Amino acid sequence: MSTNVVNSERFVDKPSAVLFDLDNTLYAYEPAHKAGTQAVRAKALSKIGIEAAEFDLAFLKARAEIKSQLGETASSHSRLLYSQRALEHLGMRSQALLSLELEQTYWGSFLAASEPREGVYDFLDLLARAGIPRVIVTDLTAQIQLRKLVFLELDKRFEYVVTSEESGHDKPDGAGFDLAISKLNSGNRFAESRLQEGSVWMIGDNVISDIEGSKSAINATTLALQSELGGQSTNPAIDMIFDSFTDLVKFVSNKGWDLNNRG
Ligand SMILES: [Mg+2]
Repeated sequence: MSTNVVNSERFVDKPSAVLFDLDNTLYAYEPAHKAGTQAVRAKALSKIGIEAAEFDLAFLKARAEIKSQLGETASSHSRLLYSQRALEHLGMRSQALLSLELEQTYWGSFLAASEPREGVYDFLDLLARAGIPRVIVTDLTAQIQLRKLVFLELDKRFEYVVTSEESGHDKPDGAGFDLAISKLNSGNRFAESRLQEGSVWMIGDNVISDIEGSKSAINATTLALQSELGGQSTNPAIDMIFDSFTDLVKFVSNKGWDLNNRG
């Protein structure tokens, strides 16, 4: 358990705000996605009586088509569109009710299998006590991302949420990061001082979307989750690699930034 500070000059001063990715950063994505996928398959098989392999093939084809048609936008991740197109590929034409049911099944099982990573609440609550605002910058549509935040009891722990449905572009496009800064600068509570270049942290699991994206859009100080980095730990856009949010609690406390002062 540790933090690996790559660029120490980035951590001389207390951050003025901290931006967070949601999916696979604040909770582990794979177990939740697996539970959702299995539940959708089971529901489809019981409703339309086909083989699992046939449904999986139609769903994968549908997903690839929707992604290629919509590009890097929030709706390119829509389980509703994937379900609708999969049923069309199975020769059923557009099935409104079943498409909606499959979407709800996916997210219901997904949420039930989600839990915040270790130390997430402690770290967010520490930042709150320190007077450091917290913002979610996430891909996907507002409806499900807000539901995830409520379900994970994270909603009250953030000042602002930015989704790619709202900004118009998935990360690494800069639109979401710019919108986060603009919300922070225009919010009444923090209006007295505009955010300084480089003083905002971005924490995420994806080197391209979260780390390179925020570095190039807003010159963020970037913190990457060690377990999800794969072979990309030497990417020059990373300023710190950390094992767990508990390590970040220790890091911020050791710096003395957990006290709410103007220093
Ligand atoms: Mg992520």
